[in-house]
Amino acid sequence: MDLSYGPEYDDFRAEVREFCRNHRPAEHRSRGIPGVTERPSPEVLAWQAKLIEHGYAARTIPREYGGYGAKPDIIENRIIQEEFLAAGLPLGLSNQGISMLVPTLLEVGTAEQCTTYIRPTIYGEMIWCQGYSEPGAGSDLASLRTRAELDGDEWIINGQKIWTSSAHVADMCFILVRTEPEAPKHHGISYLLMPMDRPGIDVRPLVTMTGDATFNEVFLADVRIPAKNIVGARGQGWHVANVTLKYERGMLGNAGQGQSGIKGLVELLQEETAGSARAMDLDHYRDRLLKLQGRTLANKYHGMRLLSQSINGEQTGVEGLITKLSATELAYDIYSLAVDVLGETGTLYDGSPYQAERDWQKSLLGCFTGIIGGGSANIQRNIIAERGLGLPREPRVRFDSGRWELSPSASNKGGN
Ligand SMILES: Cc1cc2nc3c(=O)[nH]c(=O)nc-3n(C[C@H](O)[C@H](O)[C@H](O)COP(=O)(O)OP(=O)(O)OC[C@H]3O[C@@H](n4cnc5c(N)ncnc54)[C@H](O)[C@@H]3O)c2cc1C
Repeated sequence: MDLSYGPEYDDFRAEVREFCRNHRPAEHRSRGIPGVTERPSPEVLAWQAKLIEHGYAARTIPREYGGYGAKPDIIENRIIQEEFLAAGLPLGLSNQGISMLVPTLLEVGTAEQCTTYIRPTIYGEMIWCQGYSEPGAGSDLASLRTRAELDGDEWIINGQKIWTSSAHVADMCFILVRTEPEAPKHHGISYLLMPMDRPGIDVRPLVTMTGDATFNEVFLADVRIPAKNIVGARGQGWHVANVTLKYERGMLGNAGQGQSGIKGLVELLQEETAGSARAMDLDHYRDRLLKLQGRTLANKYHGMRLLSQSINGEQTGVEGLITKLSATELAYDIYSLAVDVLGETGTLYDGSPYQAERDWQKSLLGCFTGIIGGGSANIQRNIIAERGLGLPREPRVRFDSGRWELSPSASNKGGN
């Protein structure tokens, strides 16, 4: 098995390495996540613009929409990631607008929508949030009840969303609403683009166990938006929603993800001591590290298998779901080991003067975003088992007329 990318990529790698040697983002002291907990700072926006100019962000987005306009080449993308990681440089912005909405618009949006929204989004100037989940519709997303009615040339939206990341900083929301209440639940949904400054939108922050308010409840009372702000056809929103979910899973878990964590973990085990011994010399830590390194390598090679499939024009099936599931759970186990090794100081985070240089504890708590968001790990396991391995469907139940019943069909956030 030849795992090299081939000599034809050597020049490209040299070019990226040269860029990494000569450029660094201006330092900025923000502790938030640009575009999620706060709007990107001028320094972050300047770095993003520089990356786009050189083709290291928005690389394949057409020039007419503000991107670099390169031909899709996933090996080049991989080389960019590897070289930036090795140089310790931040890659371009990744948020729900850039990583989920932009590819969705390119796949199923109109030319007018692409022209209006893609440029400001990739430059980090337009922040988006995702209005999918509701109090009664998470894993079973197609049960959503927020509704929109057409009134002349406007949609009027009423309902409630929950867990809406970034809604407090967002300019726009891609939102799922029920527009055909009489249709079967998957056929009654539409996908709308809602400006967040409209009257009737009430955003209330929810504080997570990290102490941050990264997501929100969003209450919608007679919110009016233009009728043209619909992606795909009316009632076809379930299909569009699943296009976005495909990109969300790619954002939340990728095959290269464990590598930076493992690198830091090895350094930590070499530096930290327990009693008079180096953590690295203690069997119980070394054993866990070894298993994690094995899983990181397995992920990396799984990623290469997907790469080969994609280069050969083969469709990937549940393999993409495996990446999200394994990468997000691996990240959790890597950070858990770091926190265990740190002992008491491992419980400190977010600016404590005594905490380790790297925020291991906060990263650990943050791992639940990937494990739950975009379809929880349990749901991913169900789909992999049923669609990938052909195992029998597990019984689905629903609560109807005051009692639990076996349900003949089910839909969930993992499904497309
Ligand atoms: C940090 C974070 C950010 C998020 N950001 C957003 C966002 O921006 N926009 C948005 O729309 N949503 C967002 N979400 C919501 C996320 O998509 C949902 O939390 C997720 O889909 C699960 O839905 P739920 O929370 O309603 O849990 P439920 O669906 O109520 O599930 C509860 C538990 O039951 C399990 N479960 C449910 N059904 C099954 C089944 N059939 N088989 C086995 N187990 C099952 C689940 O795995 C879970 O453990 C975010 C979530 C998190 C944690």
